[in-house]
Amino acid sequence: MTEAADLAPIRDAVRGLCADFPGEYWRRLDRERAYPGEFVAALTKAGFLAALIPEEYGGSGLTMTAAAAIMEEIQAAGCNGAACHAQMYTMGTLLRHGTAAQKERYLPAIARGELRLQAFGVTEPTSGTDTLSLRTTAVRDGDHYIVNGQKIWTSRAEHSDLMLLLARTTPREAAKSRTAGLSVFIVDMRAAKNNGLTIRPIRTMMNHATTEVFFENMRVPAENLIGTEGEGFRYILSGMNAERILIAAECIGDGKWFIDKAASYARDRVVFGRPIGQNQGVQFPIARAYIGMRAAELMVREAATLYEAGKDCGAEANMAKHLAAEASWAAADMCVQTHGGFGFAEEFDIERKFRETRLYTVAPISTNLILSYIAEHVLGLPRSY
Ligand SMILES: Cc1cc2nc3c(=O)[nH]c(=O)nc-3n(C[C@H](O)[C@H](O)[C@H](O)COP(=O)(O)OP(=O)(O)OC[C@H]3O[C@@H](n4cnc5c(N)ncnc54)[C@H](O)[C@@H]3O)c2cc1C
Repeated sequence: MTEAADLAPIRDAVRGLCADFPGEYWRRLDRERAYPGEFVAALTKAGFLAALIPEEYGGSGLTMTAAAAIMEEIQAAGCNGAACHAQMYTMGTLLRHGTAAQKERYLPAIARGELRLQAFGVTEPTSGTDTLSLRTTAVRDGDHYIVNGQKIWTSRAEHSDLMLLLARTTPREAAKSRTAGLSVFIVDMRAAKNNGLTIRPIRTMMNHATTEVFFENMRVPAENLIGTEGEGFRYILSGMNAERILIAAECIGDGKWFIDKAASYARDRVVFGRPIGQNQGVQFPIARAYIGMRAAELMVREAATLYEAGKDCGAEANMAKHLAAEASWAAADMCVQTHGGFGFAEEFDIERKFRETRLYTVAPISTNLILSYIAEHVLGLPRSY
């Protein structure tokens, strides 16, 4: 499956932009655990983060394949799209299920870069992957909902104006089905901060700007409910395929970066009077990582093609995410090994990218949950949980 040649200008443009953000930039931010505001602003200004917003709302109206190419190139250039990738796909929930007024109000402003929709509040400390057990509640009170509860791993909350929030509006026992009773809201965090909303950063092994957020009688206007009350779980699920495909593309980009670094080092580094890459013990792991990355890339392309044709791509999106996350992690490990001691030196950027790419076999969905999805939905095996 080859990619359309017309994506070459987009790939070149992303690479050109990323060239202004070299390793030193990311190393400094990594040390300080600081947010790459200039990088995100440059991507926004160039219109890349509005790739999937339709032209009628001021976006670029690009395909999923093009959006995936953007994310892949960011990672392949050594940058980190995790600082902003949610802006690309989170707006899909609003686009597919929002009212005309909500879309008019938010999408053009997001496309222009005046509003940031970077935060996605689903995961909670007690429920974890079992989203249907989440405990944050939103109770209707006149023309508002009153929100109480807590989210964890709400990434970029400090660098976003809006948050897409999933909360329970009908108690589980009273809901008409297992998946009903949850609702999605757009929370304007500018109004809510210190007014029912508290954000606390969590320091992690990589620079990810993730947080935990607390809601204490936070008031959300009822007009910020997306779609029908109680249907929110379905809306969130409908956005998962886009998220999986884009993150898989990021992993492909990471894989390419690691493989490129390793191959070039193995060609140049001379030990025992010959390039280390002349030893099969060094070249085979690089070749193996390359094969794994290319195989995963095919699945990412297939998932993106199905997605943009409007076909069901749940299995392909999950398999793409799984294969790509495993491929990038294998390439990261290989890259450290190829570099020997220098793999651990900050100035080579490898240890930073190694820490960054490790996330993707856990989030936004962990390997086991993908395997159980395939077992149940593709292979017809009994549901295990
Ligand atoms: C840096 C970072 C950023 C994140 N950003 C966001 C964000 O912006 N918004 C958001 O909502 N969430 C975010 N997350 C949360 C992320 O999606 C979850 O961490 C991830 O889905 C795993 O959930 P959990 O941590 O609750 O693990 P748990 O659900 O507690 O699972 C722990 C382990 O047990 C396994 N496991 C659990 N149940 C089963 C089962 N039935 N069968 C087999 N294995 C099982 C899991 O696979 C996992 O390996 C982020 C997480 C991290 C670390």
